[in-house]
Amino acid sequence: MPELNENFLKLEKNYLFINIAKKINAFIEANPEKKDNIIRMGIGDVTLPLAPCVVEAVKKGAEEMGVKETFKGYEDSGTGYDFLKEAISEYYASFGTIVKPSEIRISDGAKSDCGNIVDIFGDNNVVLITDPAYPVYVDSNLMSGRKVIYADCTKENGFCAVPDPDVHADLIYLCSPNNPTGAAFTTEQLKAWIDYAIAEKAIIIYDAAYEAFITEDNVPRSIFAVEGARKCAIEICSLSKTAGFTGLRCGYTVIPEDLEVEASDGTKVNISQIWGRRQGSKFNGVSYPVQCGAAAVFSAEGREQIKVNLEYYKENARIIASALDDLGIFYTGGKNSPYIWLECPKGMGSWEFFDYLLTEANVVGTPGAGFGKNGEGFFRLTSFGDRDKTIEAVGRIKALLS
Ligand SMILES: *Cc1c(COP(=O)(O)O)cnc(C)c1O
Repeated sequence: MPELNENFLKLEKNYLFINIAKKINAFIEANPEKKDNIIRMGIGDVTLPLAPCVVEAVKKGAEEMGVKETFKGYEDSGTGYDFLKEAISEYYASFGTIVKPSEIRISDGAKSDCGNIVDIFGDNNVVLITDPAYPVYVDSNLMSGRKVIYADCTKENGFCAVPDPDVHADLIYLCSPNNPTGAAFTTEQLKAWIDYAIAEKAIIIYDAAYEAFITEDNVPRSIFAVEGARKCAIEICSLSKTAGFTGLRCGYTVIPEDLEVEASDGTKVNISQIWGRRQGSKFNGVSYPVQCGAAAVFSAEGREQIKVNLEYYKENARIIASALDDLGIFYTGGKNSPYIWLECPKGMGSWEFFDYLLTEANVVGTPGAGFGKNGEGFFRLTSFGDRDKTIEAVGRIKALLS
């Protein structure tokens, strides 16, 4: 009988969204007449369709696959077609950050890379993760039995964790703009993390999945826009939220070409090379039609078209934020992020507020406690819903809480 990787038994039994679905189902069973009145503001998935030029590019790619002369089999490198890597490199250049096409690797999404990157690092590393956090960072490290320590995000620091020079870490996960809190690091805040990482000889794994939602000038769109990052950071990004690719699947990871770690015998090992070796063994690349669609996102036409959807979500976020301003409720996010992270009113706990909002307003959100201990007492609303439903939900919340 094979021995189980018993680290899996240490993971949370029920995924947060399964618990939420159970509660909603129980509510509907007890109140069948309220079923159609429920508004879901907990979803972390986009709802608007793909941009027209993306659909055209995917179709064209598929058609090429149906003709002998233009058929594509395995991609030579498995790291993505040059046309897409060049388009992404130009996208970085458009906001003033230099990333070479050869430093970019195309993947089937940011979640895979965030989870798989741990493969190339030893199990004795101390992994620092912000609390609250997107669950993948914690789970993928616990699965391999690594020690995880937490950096606190609190109301006091605006849910932007600050490095503690007295605590050592080898790997640091940062996500900005953040899921779940919507908070985003300023250049100065991110520089403090970069300085800390360099001092600790640590590597930052930077999740930039929400960079397209940034509106403020002093919030960098890439960690590589900040001095020193090329010495200590890997950036993982995705088209999921930027361009509605959650069902199409495409992301990219940027590893500076000279980023190194020291092996136990003192030799310097190139990170990009080792990650390439890992991917070469376990990953065969992203489908050609999807890469065609992804390249279309970065064309002038594509950027205009995705802006329409991004503006729609951003306006929803402004509507939610403005209601919370009127109610005098503390929150982070909404400005550079589709997420609004609010303090539960009347001193309620996260799940208590979840039940209250579901029962009294038939509005569903996500309890902050599901993202870590510092999430207790907080609650996440998302702007990925319908405009009309967002306005309706916000009206109900205002009526309930004012
Ligand atoms: C949605 C999301 C991603 C994107 O994951 P994909 O696998 O590319 O769909 C990555 N990181 C965070 C924090 C997210 O919320």
